[in-house]
Amino acid sequence: MSHSQTARMDIRCPHCGYDFSAYLWVIIDLDESPELVPSIRNDTIHYITCSRCGDGVGQADSPLLIYRPGYRPPVLFSPSWDSTGDDIKESAAFLMNQLRQSLGASWQDSGIAVVPRPSLGEILTVDFGDTTLKSGEPRRTP
Ligand SMILES: [Zn+2]
Repeated sequence: MSHSQTARMDIRCPHCGYDFSAYLWVIIDLDESPELVPSIRNDTIHYITCSRCGDGVGQADSPLLIYRPGYRPPVLFSPSWDSTGDDIKESAAFLMNQLRQSLGASWQDSGIAVVPRPSLGEILTVDFGDTTLKSGEPRRTP
């Protein structure tokens, strides 16, 4: 069973008027889907492109929970932009619960960090390395 999950969002393309559904990642298990690291890092993971005309529709405002077993903390939660205080807690708890259910016996409750979206990329760069780092930027090793 996949631990990663998407949420459906119904979209009308502002360019061509096409109605379609976008599936946004809300939970990503990086062990399962390491190929998603680059788009999390450059913040295109929630960018929606029209499936008919191919034009960019824009950035969807969606929370994202990242599970990365073996790293500390294993769970990173990045709230949607417009959420505050209790919204963040609620949305984090909801996604945590989904993840816990899909992990079953392999779930270990060992912490969650709430990370604003811009910092998410930096954390993954530190953890997973980045071949696109420009020279002069510090490069840390785990
Ligand atoms: Zn379109």
